[in-house]
Amino acid sequence: MTETFFVGIDGPAGSGKSSVSKEAARRLGFGYLDTGAVYRALAWHVRDAGATTEDPGAVEAAFETFRPEIGLDPDQRSVRVDGVDVTAAIRTPETTAAVAGVARTLPVREKINALFREIVRRAKAPGVIVEGRDITTVVAPDAPVRILLTAHPEVRAARRSAEMGAEDVAAVAEAMRRRDASDSTVVDFLNAADGVTAVDTTHLDFDQSVEAVLAVIDERLKGGRDGR
Ligand code: C5P
Repeated sequence: MTETFFVGIDGPAGSGKSSVSKEAARRLGFGYLDTGAVYRALAWHVRDAGATTEDPGAVEAAFETFRPEIGLDPDQRSVRVDGVDVTAAIRTPETTAAVAGVARTLPVREKINALFREIVRRAKAPGVIVEGRDITTVVAPDAPVRILLTAHPEVRAARRSAEMGAEDVAAVAEAMRRRDASDSTVVDFLNAADGVTAVDTTHLDFDQSVEAVLAVIDERLKGGRDGR
């Protein structure tokens, strides 16, 4: 069996990471794994058990009964936990605020990372685009393609507001800044690590961003799947 071609894409909110990764996966016939959705689903699961993600012990305990179901089809984005469809619930402001506590619980990160690697190993698609914060540095530092998507903070806030249908761009920018600051204490997803290709989407529209990412992947695919 040939190994699944692993594409890791990291970046902050509003960099275009999710939409660009999904579209690149569609065009390549690859799978797409949204790792943030799994962190969000675990935050939902902790809260569903009546606990708070501020308590690392509660997060670790909740992980023991955490059975997420997440597909790799870029057009089928539903997420289930114990058979419950949590697709919408993991995007609420309450879950979004709670996810930082999960992200800071390091023993749980290690287990979640093992889960991500296993999902990619079992994938039927020829390749998988795995999107998150620490994919290029921790989850798959040896992946054949590692990309960091970046964009100027003002551009990210504007995109995020548009995505959410929010009118108060300043409030969205502030929430984003707080989440970035909290997330950056765990992993650095604002600067490209050694060997990671940075793609700055500040002045690129959606299609140009997709093309830029596909160009990086293409170069690697042409270079041969084993040419690390
Ligand atoms: O990508 P998304 O905004 O949905 O991620 C939600 C949260 O999950 C992030 O703010 C971060 O705290 C956490 N996360 C993480 N590592 C990843 C993906 C997401 O810590 N690989």
